[in-house]
Amino acid sequence: MQKINLLGFTLEQLKFEFLKNGLSILDAKRVFPWIHTKLAASFSVMTDIPLEIRKILEHAYSLARPRCLTLQKSRDGTSKALLEMVDGNLIETVLIPEERRTTVCVSTQIGCAMGCKFCHTGTQSFVRNLTSSEMISQIFFWKAERAVTNVVFMGMGEPLLNFENLSSVLELLLDEKAHNFSRNKITVSTSGITDDTIKSLAKFGVKLAISLHAPTDEKRSFLMPINKKYNIKMLLETARTYPQNSNTDCVTFEYLLLKDVNDADSDALALACLLKSVPCKVNLIAFNNWPGTKFASSTEGRRNEFVRIASNGIRVTARKSKGGDILAACGQLKGASNLL
Ligand code: SF4
Repeated sequence: MQKINLLGFTLEQLKFEFLKNGLSILDAKRVFPWIHTKLAASFSVMTDIPLEIRKILEHAYSLARPRCLTLQKSRDGTSKALLEMVDGNLIETVLIPEERRTTVCVSTQIGCAMGCKFCHTGTQSFVRNLTSSEMISQIFFWKAERAVTNVVFMGMGEPLLNFENLSSVLELLLDEKAHNFSRNKITVSTSGITDDTIKSLAKFGVKLAISLHAPTDEKRSFLMPINKKYNIKMLLETARTYPQNSNTDCVTFEYLLLKDVNDADSDALALACLLKSVPCKVNLIAFNNWPGTKFASSTEGRRNEFVRIASNGIRVTARKSKGGDILAACGQLKGASNLL
């Protein structure tokens, strides 16, 4: 019998599961903090739970975490871990320590079906969704290293295509009896899926980042096939409604600067015109190289000029890229193949 991994169960899910198995709600209430605040790695350490209950737990359930195969550290302090799931699949997760915060970047899928042209993960075909246990394990993993202040769902995969499991993880992160993050410390990033899932996400009140990467549908469709289904007009509509529905400040549009693709003065001007009446921020991201890519990073001079022009009417920040030397930066993650 395969044991059920409990790491990703919310308290309500745990109560339901225990009742099904002849255990009590009180057992669930006792086990839950052991898992999420004491980060217990086994049932045997749960000393306030009667021995016979612990035996049942050990028989039916597991608290197993993915195995870390490699841990790399960048010159700038960013760390990247390659984790092996129980079924042998591999994912990467990243820790970004900064002066005032430490952010974990969580992967939500093995591979990705979205096929964004500039993304290393996008070259790996979609394998499966990560379970809620596999996602929260990434936070457990880094918490063992240092205190985590922020969580971004920007690793491998499209989070909104794994929404049910993502919901459980968000609930666990926000639960004051579990990880107790405040809503504004959590960001979910999407390649631009703007269906009803966005409304469900808004109920959690977490921040939303949307990958824009181009100021016109023509360019965006070239870079991101998803644009043929959810175009820029739909993204702008989401940017207008999400803050009200989620009680957040405004959405962030991510814009990856690619040399001679989307970094011309005319692109900056088009971006400023497009967004001037939309409540939003724009994060300009430097492109990070990966083996086999056809794209290149814009020069610093080009980036500065782009910021100067685009800032005319919209809020633009040029984000410093982290972990590029260990392929841990945005769009560089790719499971096992980085080892080859
Ligand atoms: S950028 Fe995100 S959504 Fe696009 S292919 Fe990469 S992992 Fe998938």
